[in-house]
Amino acid sequence: MQKYDYLIVGAGLFGSVFAHEAKKKGRSCLVIDKRPHLGGNVYCENVDGINVHKYGAHIFHTNDKAIWDYVNQFAEFNNYINSPVSISKGKLYNLPFNMNTFYQLWGVKTPAEAREIISKQIEEYGVKNPKNLEEQALSLIGRDIYETLIKEYTEKQWGRKASELPAFIIKRLPVRYTFDNNYFNDKYQGIPVGGYNKIIDGLLNGIETRTNVDFFKDKQTLESLAKKVVFTGKIDEYFNYEFGKLEYRSLRFENEQLNTDNFQGNAVINYNDSDVPYTRIIEHKHFEFGKQKHTVVTKEYPEQWTSKKEAYYPINNEENQNKFKQYKEKSKTRNKVIFGGRLAEYKYYDMHQIIGSALQKVKTEFS
Ligand code: UDP
Repeated sequence: MQKYDYLIVGAGLFGSVFAHEAKKKGRSCLVIDKRPHLGGNVYCENVDGINVHKYGAHIFHTNDKAIWDYVNQFAEFNNYINSPVSISKGKLYNLPFNMNTFYQLWGVKTPAEAREIISKQIEEYGVKNPKNLEEQALSLIGRDIYETLIKEYTEKQWGRKASELPAFIIKRLPVRYTFDNNYFNDKYQGIPVGGYNKIIDGLLNGIETRTNVDFFKDKQTLESLAKKVVFTGKIDEYFNYEFGKLEYRSLRFENEQLNTDNFQGNAVINYNDSDVPYTRIIEHKHFEFGKQKHTVVTKEYPEQWTSKKEAYYPINNEENQNKFKQYKEKSKTRNKVIFGGRLAEYKYYDMHQIIGSALQKVKTEFS
C-alpha cells in the first residue's frame, strides 16, 4: 500500500521545500497538515486586500545568495527593510541599538560620545564571561539600554527572568555606531510581493496535499502510505513524550480592522513596559507599502504554552536541551523518518535557516 515515496507531515517551509525538491528528483509526495491551510507559520490571510501575517510578523532576510535566489524563484520580493520602533516609559526609540537610539537616550551626537558612555557602563558592570541573557546584554551594551529597551520586553516575551534565559537570544540584535535603523545585518531582505502564500503555492505546485489531517490520530495508516516520512512536528510528541515534555513559549494574536489608513506609521512597534501585556503591535499593510483606506493591526501577547496551544518558541535552556538530546539520539534509530524544522529540531530558526536546513537534508537524502 506504499503509494508515495514520502509522507510529509507539516506543510510549513521545511516540509514544502523538501516536497518540492523530492518532486524534482522524480519522487512522489503526500503533504499533510493539521491546520485548515498550507504554509505553517508563514501563512497569510488576505483581509480586504491586506496580507495579514496570521502567525506573527515574518520578514525574510538572509546573507546567503543561494537561499535568496531560491525564494525568488517563487515570488518577487519588495524592498521592505525592517526598522522597528520601541516604546519605553512613553518615549520612542529606534531599533536595533544604533546612533539614533543613543541620541534618543543620552542626547549624544557622535559615535565617540556614544562609545564612551557604553564602554563606561560595560566596565562598571565588569562581567567578562556572560552566562545568561542579562549578563550578556549588560556586558554588550550597558545598563541604560538593558533597563530601557531589553529587560522588561524580554521577561514578558519569555515569561521568565532574563537571568534565567540563554545568552544567544540577545545576540540576534545588532549594536551599531551608525545612524542605521535596519534591524538585520543581512545583505538580502524583503517581503514577497503578494504575500508568503505565493511561495508555498509555488513550492507545493503539483504535489498532493491534505489539510485538516491530524497525523497522530491516524499515525499507523498514514505512515503505511509511504516508504519514508518527513516529520516536522514536535519531536517529543512523535516519541510519546518518553523523555518528558519539551517546553515552548506560545503567543496569542488579537487582530483588529480599523477605519484609518495609517494607525502607527510603521509595520512593527515594540512595547517594552511590563505593564503593557503585549510585546508588539504589527500594522500589516506597511510590509507591502499598502495604500488601502483601512488597516489591520495585530497585538501580540506572549503566553504560557500548554499542549492545546501553538508552540512558537522553543525554550532552549539546559533542562530542555538535555531532553532534546535524548530525543535526537532516539531519532537516529528511525532510518525511515527524517526529522526537520523548528519543532522537530527544537531550534529558534528564522525562515532562511529553515530553508537552508531543508536543502541540506535534501542533499543528504538524494546524494
Ligand atoms: N528584544 C528586546 N527588546 C526588543 C526586541 C527584542 O529585548 O525591543 C530581545 C528579546 O529578548 C527577544 C530577542 O531580543 O526575545 C529577539 O527578538 P526578535 O524580535 O528579534 O525575535 P522574534 O521574537 O521576532 O523571533
